[in-house]
Amino acid sequence: MTPEQVMRRIYALRSRGVTDARVLTAFEKIDRAEFVPATFAERSEEDVPLPIASGQTTSQPSVIGLMAQAARIGPRDKVLEIGTGTGFQAAILSRLARRVYSVERHAPLARAARANLERLGITNVTVITGDGTRGLPEQAPFDAILVSAAAEDPPGPLLSQLREGGSMVLPVGVSDAVQTLIKVTRTEDGYEYDELMPVRFVPLVDGVEQD
Ligand code: SAH
Repeated sequence: MTPEQVMRRIYALRSRGVTDARVLTAFEKIDRAEFVPATFAERSEEDVPLPIASGQTTSQPSVIGLMAQAARIGPRDKVLEIGTGTGFQAAILSRLARRVYSVERHAPLARAARANLERLGITNVTVITGDGTRGLPEQAPFDAILVSAAAEDPPGPLLSQLREGGSMVLPVGVSDAVQTLIKVTRTEDGYEYDELMPVRFVPLVDGVEQD
C-alpha cells in the first residue's frame, strides 16, 4: 500500500461517518486484501461487501468502522465477535481491544481466519468454531459484542453475556432486504436500544458446519 492509497482509504471511511481516531488508525494498519480471495484482492479497497468461501461475504469496511465506533471499545476491553468470516473485522478489533474472541459457524472459514491473523502476527484474537447464537459463556461477560450476521431479534444468550455498561452492535430484521443496525446497551436495570442505520448482512444461522 502506498501512503496515498492509505489516505484515500481513510478519506472514504471519514466521508461515510467513521471519525473515531482509534478506529481510523486500525484501518490504516490492516490491509483488507489479506482477508479476501486472490481473485478479489484488487477490489479490496472498494467500500463494498466481497465474496469469501462457504457462500459468505466479508462486510463493507465502512460498516465495520461504524460498528466498531458505535461499540466504544476501550484498550482494556474484552470483546466478542459473532461471525468471523476470514477475520478482517477481528483484525480491526484486535487493535482496539485487549482481547477478542470470535465465533464462526463454518469450520473452513474459522481456519482461514486463524491463518490470516497468525500471518499478520495478531496474537490477541481467539477464533472459535461454534454457534455464535449461544455466545461464549466461558469467557463472559464482555465489554462489547459485535454481531456480523442478521437475526430476527438480539439472541438472549448474547444479551445476558454483556457486562453492565457494555454495548452490543448487531443487525436485526427478518428478510434480506430490511435490516437495521442497532446498538443495545446494558444498564443497571435493563437494556437500552438505539437504531443506527439500514444495513444488509448474511443471516445468523444456528448450528455448525464442518465443511
Ligand atoms: N466479520 C466478518 C463478516 C463475515 S460474514 C468480516 O470481517 O468480514 C458473517 C459471518 O457470520 C459468516 O462467515 C457466517 O458463516 C457467520 N455466521 C452466521 N451465523 C453464525 C452463527 N450462528 N455463529 C457463528 N457465525 C455465524
